[in-house]
Amino acid sequence: MFIPNRVLLEKESLDYPLGKELYDRFRNDSEVEIIKLTSNKINQYIPGEDMYKKYREGKKTLVVGTKKSLKFQSCKPSAHYQLPLVSGCMGQCEYCYLNTQLGDKPFVRVHVNVDDILNQAKKYIDARKPEITIFEGAATSDPIPVEPYTNSLKKAIEYFGKEEFARFRFVTKYNDVDSLIDAKHNGHTEVRFSINTDKIIKEYEHYTAGVKRRIEAAAKLADSGYPIGFIIAPVFIYDNWKEDYRELIDMLYTILPKDIDKPIGFEVISHRYTTKAKNTILQVFPETTLPMNDEERKYKYGQFGYGKFVYTKEELQDMKDFFQLEIDSKFKNKNIKYII
Ligand code: SF4
Repeated sequence: MFIPNRVLLEKESLDYPLGKELYDRFRNDSEVEIIKLTSNKINQYIPGEDMYKKYREGKKTLVVGTKKSLKFQSCKPSAHYQLPLVSGCMGQCEYCYLNTQLGDKPFVRVHVNVDDILNQAKKYIDARKPEITIFEGAATSDPIPVEPYTNSLKKAIEYFGKEEFARFRFVTKYNDVDSLIDAKHNGHTEVRFSINTDKIIKEYEHYTAGVKRRIEAAAKLADSGYPIGFIIAPVFIYDNWKEDYRELIDMLYTILPKDIDKPIGFEVISHRYTTKAKNTILQVFPETTLPMNDEERKYKYGQFGYGKFVYTKEELQDMKDFFQLEIDSKFKNKNIKYII
């Protein structure tokens, strides 16, 4: 569970019941510093003179605010819109995409005007119906660690459960899903778990749940009828990588219930990085052992000059064949969305 060192409250947040509830909860905790903000200058309250320290202190900072602009960001290709309940994450994964996306805002931010956000979602749903509109709840966050404080995910799950023309999805590296088990989801929310081998999690995914716990959490949600999926990412090629990833897929097979009636989603993504991400990672994790030697990778040109360093064509083909075979051999009722 996320235990912040400091909680910063934006003024308007106290106009909402959830804002007041969070204020009451933390002000009685002598370990937590409470700051009522008078402006939106959040960074000045996060100690640390450089990115290394700011990152670590930011990760222990909870900002309680409201979502002011209710124009949702698009979220292609996996969903139509981001659902902006939370941004940031307590985890410290070295390759996290948030390191570059939220580099100067490493704090966790929750929005307490949840009803306004869901009412806005309704407008997007109505504008597209009878087409289904998909909302992504983890585009700029991992929403699970703050869920015990806000219960916003559960509220969103139940909201979308009643919407015929909407679907909700989010992804997590955590296991604290018990409060979601009895939510009336109506099969409209897909929960995906990002998983990796033990070695990779221990080395790079600091302050996240272990892989077995994540899979056990997925099993509980599958038992409650949620569609579930797994993102195996980022996949690294290292000594014995095939043995380790085979063990991971075996573990999935062993722990998951055998009678899941909805296809299990699989997305497999190889490790890649941009020069911008590499530079940020080296500032925040100067001792990182992440394989980011440009000479060993193929440069893949991207849009707007943001090319990526990816594994070579042969390595990627090997990876593709390997995962296709391993997943096929274990799971009948599955949907391999992509292996890239
Ligand atoms: Fe980033 Fe996900 Fe790790 Fe959080 S758990 S730091 S969102 S990769």
